[in-house]
Amino acid sequence: MDSNLLQDKIILVTGASRGIGRAIARASAFAGACVILNYRGREAGIKSVVNELKKLNKHTIAVRADVSNSKDVKKMFSIIKKRFGRLDVLVNNAGIRRDSLLMNTAEKDWDDVLDVNLKGTFLCMKETVKLMLLSGGRIINITSIVGTNGNPGQAAYSASKAGIIGLTKSASKELGPIGITVNAIAPGLIDTDMVANLTSEQRAKLIKNTPLARSGTADEVASAAVFLASEMAAYVNGQVIGVDGGMIM
Ligand code: NAP
Repeated sequence: MDSNLLQDKIILVTGASRGIGRAIARASAFAGACVILNYRGREAGIKSVVNELKKLNKHTIAVRADVSNSKDVKKMFSIIKKRFGRLDVLVNNAGIRRDSLLMNTAEKDWDDVLDVNLKGTFLCMKETVKLMLLSGGRIINITSIVGTNGNPGQAAYSASKAGIIGLTKSASKELGPIGITVNAIAPGLIDTDMVANLTSEQRAKLIKNTPLARSGTADEVASAAVFLASEMAAYVNGQVIGVDGGMIM
């Protein structure tokens, strides 16, 4: 990764304690950005990343907030405003899965998934736009291939991820004229904790449907995020970029 690609950019990554969020935070820092790592609760997980990234940029900070809670989100953005006075890039990465067949899906699970994945993305975008109004910026939302294609047993998750695509497209039309681009990344099967409980049969089926015949890594998703955050993507807006080994085309 070019070490100057995101020089001096201030980037907020939600759900940065592990998995794809942590990889995006690390790749952004290696590309020269000052990273704000959002986390929900795992102090131990976030401390080691912050310590590592502080060596690249001493202004690196971690801010605790449950993205589905508007009070937490407002507090997080008031810290960002006070500390940095601006935000150049928002990466809405925080997400959860609560999979079950539609008829067995508990209302609470539906609400939790929609609250974190979709409402959390909305709440962070809303506060970000206020910070980007004068200077413009980049918003990158992490959706999923199931947001475009659906998946049995993932009604709530795929509805939340489809919602993110609609939100991305509407916002890209609304915010493009004021210099804010809004794009989404749709990962396929990426090896993180989120998919660690798939059975070997489920994994094999997914890999069979992937032309590259393997799962992806969090770093491969992070590369797409750094591209979208960089000047190289200045004319990319309202797009859903697949990072899925060709599973969906
Ligand atoms: P992961 O390893 O389970 O990590 C999820 C991250 O989100 C964790 O840092 C978690 O924090 C954080 N988080 C969850 N709820 C939160 C909340 N309410 N507020 C703030 N942070 C919260 O999952 P991942 O695979 O890296 O997934 C990252 C994103 O990629 C998600 O949006 C996911 O839907 C999407 N995605 C993943 C795949 C895949 O195959 N892995 C495929 C398509 C899309 P804690 O550590 O506190 O739990």
